[in-house]
Amino acid sequence: MATPREVDLLVVGAGPAGMTAALVASLEGLDVLLCEKSDQVGGTGATSAGTLWIPGNHQSKAAGYSDNAADADRYLDALIGAGTNRALRTAYLATGPQAIDYLEAKTDVRFLPCGTHPDYRSNTPGAAVSGRAIIPRPFDGRLLGEDFRRLRAPIPEFMVLGGMMVGKGDIPPLLGRFRSIANFIYAAKLFARYFTDRLRYPRGTRIMMGNALAGRLFYSLRQRQVPILFNAALVDLIGDQSGVTGARIAIAGKVGEIKARKGVVLATGGYGHNKEFRDRFMPQPVPAHSMSYEGNQGDGVALGRKLGAALSPERCTSGLWTPASVTVRADGSKGLFPHFMFDRAKPGLIAVNSAGRRFVNEACSYHDFVLAMFESHEREPSIPAYLVCDAAFLHKYGLGVVYPGHRNPGKFVDNGYFMRANSLDNLARQIGVDATQLRATVARHNTFAETGVDVDFGKGETELSRFNGDAAHKPNPCIGPIVQAPFYALAVWPADIAVSTGLSTDADARVLTAGGAPIPGLYACGNDMASVMSGSYPGPGTTLGPAIVFAYRAAMHARRATAG
Ligand SMILES: Cc1cc2nc3c(=O)[nH]c(=O)nc-3n(C[C@H](O)[C@H](O)[C@H](O)COP(=O)(O)OP(=O)(O)OC[C@H]3O[C@@H](n4cnc5c(N)ncnc54)[C@H](O)[C@@H]3O)c2cc1C
Repeated sequence: MATPREVDLLVVGAGPAGMTAALVASLEGLDVLLCEKSDQVGGTGATSAGTLWIPGNHQSKAAGYSDNAADADRYLDALIGAGTNRALRTAYLATGPQAIDYLEAKTDVRFLPCGTHPDYRSNTPGAAVSGRAIIPRPFDGRLLGEDFRRLRAPIPEFMVLGGMMVGKGDIPPLLGRFRSIANFIYAAKLFARYFTDRLRYPRGTRIMMGNALAGRLFYSLRQRQVPILFNAALVDLIGDQSGVTGARIAIAGKVGEIKARKGVVLATGGYGHNKEFRDRFMPQPVPAHSMSYEGNQGDGVALGRKLGAALSPERCTSGLWTPASVTVRADGSKGLFPHFMFDRAKPGLIAVNSAGRRFVNEACSYHDFVLAMFESHEREPSIPAYLVCDAAFLHKYGLGVVYPGHRNPGKFVDNGYFMRANSLDNLARQIGVDATQLRATVARHNTFAETGVDVDFGKGETELSRFNGDAAHKPNPCIGPIVQAPFYALAVWPADIAVSTGLSTDADARVLTAGGAPIPGLYACGNDMASVMSGSYPGPGTTLGPAIVFAYRAAMHARRATAG
């Protein structure tokens, strides 16, 4: 494709934020160019769970759930303070359902209600238990034809058989495929589709979660014939604080200028892999692991800052965090598995620090779990922390990448994924934790399993905990005894799945100077934009919700803006 010299709107970064901005701007009649640094679309978004936090969304209402923006606003008041980001929050809550409906009406992007999916501080006023989160409808990657190769794949940890995506709803029939005919047929159909796919495609084409979101956005862009330049990296902006009129883009080693009559949208995914920004914004010791796409090197944030843009929020841990275990992939390389929901809240697992003490309600949100790691680490070493369970737990619920009922957990001992020992004392020695304390911690926890009350951290007391626990386990769905050897310990580390510090913007995603004035022609969305949640993590979809909504607002504003 020839590189255009001049367009209405230049969008940089083809993650969910950039693709949405480009798609909406094109639908609104602008002449758009989308530049992507790598040779694939999707960014971190393609590897994500794909959930969007959209209070009052119509998809959930149509399915019979009730939620409203006023409750969400009250909830955010409690989390981040009534005055914080007021204008952006109001715009976000007011535009969320509208932006989603717009995409559904005019493109191939479709969503499903998540139903019950509690907010992460579910005991706070205004929090929702259901009706607030939506996910992309699964997508048939075959519709992309040859372009399917241009869609970034999920991380191997989220696929089975080297390339088959498995959704939450697929797990019970797949694990129980020999338990009923219905399950067997379900599993057989999935496998048949997958093996047929592999005759033509590099991986399975039945895609879901964040991969479906990226796939649907990409497909919609292709349908509208919006030009996308691959291997085209933003290297500089043209202009100053009085206005941005274009950008310098490096393509195949050559830097060219592209003029943008209505502006440039920065959507380069934030600074997850920028050492300088990590050192500056994140807690000490700076976490070594990031789950964001390795190409996200803070280019948009750095170039905005060079122009004198303000960065915010200042007082937060700057990441949106998950505990992650380090996996060993089939080719011997290392990966990361995020411990979002499948193991921590189940009965019969505790998290301990190096003193052998619990420091957190293990069933809290992944973000809150890591905040507790940071806090505990100030008192005694808690990075890494260890998830400790017994043989019965491992068999019933699995742990990290080891799925329930795995026939050969020893493989994961041999490759160093987790430690195994016949006694708690031996386990403690292997992980370098005080053995007497670990024994005492487990014994105390086992008394909570009997009473059903976690006197120390309240595990199982919130809707969120119980949702992720085992409803069939009594008296508390999140607390069970740790008694049956062998015992297991898995190290978990803080890893960012997104960042909250970014370029300050107004409610139309226009980048602001330190003095608070918008820089004409410069927009930021996704992780390049300072999080509207101001460092907090209210619920499922905290980053993709705002990424889509502010990309939509940026495009709508650009349509109204007079050419620069
Ligand atoms: C395992 C996992 C699960 C997650 N689940 C969820 C979830 O369910 N809900 C949620 O809200 N969030 C989730 N997230 C976070 C979410 O994926 C990110 O916040 C989101 O993808 C950010 O979107 P983005 O468009 O800003 O950036 P990205 O999706 O990372 O896209 C950025 C793009 O910009 C490109 N780029 C970088 N630099 C340049 C440059 N100089 N020039 C041109 N292009 C450039 C990159 O190559 C990339 O394609 C999850 C993250 C992970 C890791």
